[in-house]
Amino acid sequence: MALAERGLKVAVVDIDLSGRLSSSEKNAGGVRATWWQPVNIILCRVSIAYYRSIRNQVGFRQKGYLWLYDERTWAGACAHLGLQRSLGQPIEELTPSMVHARVPEIDKLEGIAGATFSPEDGLINPNLLKEHYRSRSRAAGAIYLDRVYVHAAEVDSHGVRLQCWQASSALSDDALTRLMSEDGPGEPQLGTLFELAASVVAITTGAWSDNALRLFGLRNFTAPVRRQLCLVDNRQTNFANYGMIVDTSGLYFHNEGAHILAGYSPPDTPPGHNFNYDGETFFISEIWPRMFARMSCCERLRHITGWAGLYEISPDRSAILGRAAPRIFEAHSFSGRGVMQSYGAGQALAELIAEGRYCRFDASALTRERFERGALVTEELHI
Ligand SMILES: Cc1cc2nc3c(=O)[nH]c(=O)nc-3n(C[C@H](O)[C@H](O)[C@H](O)COP(=O)(O)OP(=O)(O)OC[C@H]3O[C@@H](n4cnc5c(N)ncnc54)[C@H](O)[C@@H]3O)c2cc1C
Repeated sequence: MALAERGLKVAVVDIDLSGRLSSSEKNAGGVRATWWQPVNIILCRVSIAYYRSIRNQVGFRQKGYLWLYDERTWAGACAHLGLQRSLGQPIEELTPSMVHARVPEIDKLEGIAGATFSPEDGLINPNLLKEHYRSRSRAAGAIYLDRVYVHAAEVDSHGVRLQCWQASSALSDDALTRLMSEDGPGEPQLGTLFELAASVVAITTGAWSDNALRLFGLRNFTAPVRRQLCLVDNRQTNFANYGMIVDTSGLYFHNEGAHILAGYSPPDTPPGHNFNYDGETFFISEIWPRMFARMSCCERLRHITGWAGLYEISPDRSAILGRAAPRIFEAHSFSGRGVMQSYGAGQALAELIAEGRYCRFDASALTRERFERGALVTEELHI
C-alpha cells in the first residue's frame, strides 16, 4: 500500500493470499506501544494513530492494555515508563487494589506487585486490517499474484529476476505445507513456471523468511516458534468493556465476540514450523488454571476451539527491516509485533525504497547490520 500510493509499480507475490500458513491470519489482534525501544514505541504509535483514523473499517477498539506484574517483573516495567511517556505514550501505574477496582472480575490479587494501564492501546481485527491494506493498494494500482511460490532469484546491475511457480488451482493444506517446508518449485505439471522481473524486491515472508533469504544468499537470523490461542466460552462474565489483559503468569486474553480469546506461550517452546494445536489439553493445562487462579468467575470455562500460528523471533526480538543487499529490501521477523507495527513499518520501508532514505519514519535501528555491529534493539518478548 505504502509503495503503490507513492506511485511505484507494485506486484505482491504470495503462495497463498488467504494466509493459511501466515502469521497475519493467526494472531491475537493486540495493539500496543508499551515497548522498551524507541523505534518500536514510535512505529507502534504511528500505527495506532492510523488505526484510530480508520477504526470502524478495521474494528479498532482502543480499550487499553492492562498488564499485571509480579515481584520479578515489576521493576523492569517501571524502568521503561519514563521512555514510553517521553514518546507520548500515556500509561498509568496501578496498585493491586486499583486493578480490582478497574476490573472487578480480577478478585484474586495474590502475586500482583503492580500493574500498568495504557489507555491508547487496544485490539484490532487483523483480517479487516489486511483487507484494508489490500484494497487501498489495489486502488493505487498494486497487483496481487496468488498461488505463486518464488523458488529462485538472480540479482544483477539491471534488476532482480524471480523464478516463480504458479499452482493451476488452489493448493490443499497438505500440498501447501509440503511446498513451504520443502522449499521446492512445486510439481511443474500442476502449475506454470514463469519469471518476474523487478528493479527491487522486498522480502516480507514472515516466519518463512529463512527460505526467501536463502534465495538471495542472505543470512537468516530468525526462528519460527509456535504460539497457541484458544477460544473460550464463559457464560458468567463479559469482558467486552476491557481491552487486552495480561496476567503475571504470562496468560493474555480479551473479549472476542461472545467469547474470550486466550493465549499462553510456554517459554521452552522449541523452534519449528509447527502448526499443531494441542486443543483441549492446551486449554486444560495452560489456560484454564491461569484464568481461574486470577478470577473466581472463570471457574466454569469451556473450551470451544483454537489454533496455532508462528511467531518469527529475531535474536533481539525486534523486526528486521531495511536494505538487505543491493536491490533487496526486507521487513520480517516482527517477533510478535507485526500487526501492531504494520502501518509504520510499511511507511518506513516505502520511504527507504522510494526516496533512498528514511524521512518521516526512521527505522534505521532495525537494519540487519545491527547484528554485526552489536547494536541490538533488545525487546521483551510477549504480545
Ligand atoms: C498466536 C499469535 C498471536 C499473535 N498476536 C499478535 C498480536 O496480538 N499483535 C501483533 O501485532 N502481532 C501478533 N502476532 C504476530 C503477527 O501475527 C506477525 O508478526 C505478523 O502477522 C507478521 O506478518 P508478515 O506479513 O510479516 O508475515 P505473514 O503474515 O506470515 O505473511 C508472510 C507471507 O509470505 C508468504 N510466503 C512465504 N514464503 C513465500 C515464498 N517463497 N513465495 C511466496 N510466498 C511466500 C506466506 O504465504 C505468507 O502469506 C501473533 C502471532 C501469533 C502466531
